[in-house]
Amino acid sequence: MRVLVVGGGIGGLALGAGLRRRGFEVAVFDRDTDVAATGGYHITLDERAQSALREVVAPQIMRRLLASASALRLRDRDAFWDRRGRLLGHGPDLSGDAGVDVDRVTLRVLLAEAVGDDLRLGRTASGVDQDGDGVPRVLFTDAAPASADLVVGADGTHSLVARHLAGGPTNNPAGIIGFSGRTLREDLSPGERQRLGTRSGLAVGPRGAALYVGFLDPVGNVALDAPELRMSVTTGPTYIWGAMFPESAATDSLRGLRDGALQAALVRRFRERGWAEHTLELLARADPHSVAAYRFNAASTRAADLAPWPAGRITALGDAVHATPPTAGMGAGAAIRDAAALLRHLDDVGDGGATPVEAVARFEAGMRRRGGEILTLAMRTVRLVLATDSTLGAAATAATTPLLAAAARLRR
Ligand SMILES: Cc1cc2nc3c(=O)[nH]c(=O)nc-3n(C[C@H](O)[C@H](O)[C@H](O)COP(=O)(O)OP(=O)(O)OC[C@H]3O[C@@H](n4cnc5c(N)ncnc54)[C@H](O)[C@@H]3O)c2cc1C
Repeated sequence: MRVLVVGGGIGGLALGAGLRRRGFEVAVFDRDTDVAATGGYHITLDERAQSALREVVAPQIMRRLLASASALRLRDRDAFWDRRGRLLGHGPDLSGDAGVDVDRVTLRVLLAEAVGDDLRLGRTASGVDQDGDGVPRVLFTDAAPASADLVVGADGTHSLVARHLAGGPTNNPAGIIGFSGRTLREDLSPGERQRLGTRSGLAVGPRGAALYVGFLDPVGNVALDAPELRMSVTTGPTYIWGAMFPESAATDSLRGLRDGALQAALVRRFRERGWAEHTLELLARADPHSVAAYRFNAASTRAADLAPWPAGRITALGDAVHATPPTAGMGAGAAIRDAAALLRHLDDVGDGGATPVEAVARFEAGMRRRGGEILTLAMRTVRLVLATDSTLGAAATAATTPLLAAAARLRR
């Protein structure tokens, strides 16, 4: 069976790696010309995502990934703060958590290595269709169409393959603009290092302002102690942060700014909303070139709304189907799980008695459930941030957070 994959991000490469490993004829096309020259910060892979990854890549690739990953179990419990930096509470104990965080570049480079010369870079798909015999084809901006037994769209949030299948967009703006950056722990004052600790956390304030702080240390907190295999981009304790604001004309204007100008504007915006100066050190001391804006898009949280097309010989996976805001840290893991699930169903084609279309139908049913679950989780934080932007929500946030902070102090 010949499979063409449009998009060599995380899901497309995972699928390509698994197909190649199982002896399928496969080609993965991505418009990027260099897999390492890509955006992104850290990607969280929970136990289920890692187990799916083990199905698609060779054990040695998995070892290199874990030797480059930061283990959640070695982190302190997550924290919740108010805008003054006061502790409101903690997340669950992570000591038994098998999850890891890995640089997106490292994950993508390792997956691309597993796909080998079946990855075709610099190839932009311009559409998909089926010829008169129902054979699916991928059309390109600058090359002849390519035909296959199955075409899979792994082309992300703005997927043209899923749009073709659904007859329109499969997701919408979630109403939040995110701004991310990286700050080395050693660049913070001792007071902030102490407050933030070696853990991730979330601070929410009134009038729609939230700050996620992710702790990444693929050296000190490495998941697999094998320095000779390490290929992490992050080489020391680092906070990857994400500021979130409800979308508005004012946040739209921030999107036009870059580097230091964007960084300074973000600090000003938090300051105007009453955030304590010390909590803004994290933003002010970030690497200015790491600061970037992106819009959150989200598909429906209802599983039945996802992949709203009859199963056929063109399908899609990952963000193309269930675009998920990064607030649950599950989008990449779900794309990898989609890839592993599709492979398992394709194994049933032929000797297993299933036709390709039946295999796709079973795969899409599982993907709808998975997508609905992660979207429900991710949208909780999005709704919380949006709620603080209403008059009532702002008042409630301002009134309750000091009480929660006092209760947290008493508990300590
Ligand atoms: C640049 C970037 C940075 C990201 N950073 C983070 C992050 O820091 N943290 C996080 O949790 N998530 C991040 N994500 C999202 C996360 O990687 C995805 O949610 C997740 O991996 C889902 O994977 P996917 O394969 O469905 O889509 P993606 O990983 O987004 O991959 C889609 C791929 O399709 C390619 N593509 C799109 N259209 C075409 C076309 N017409 N022709 C050929 N190729 C095409 C794109 O170049 C891209 O490589 C990022 C995504 C991108 C693209």
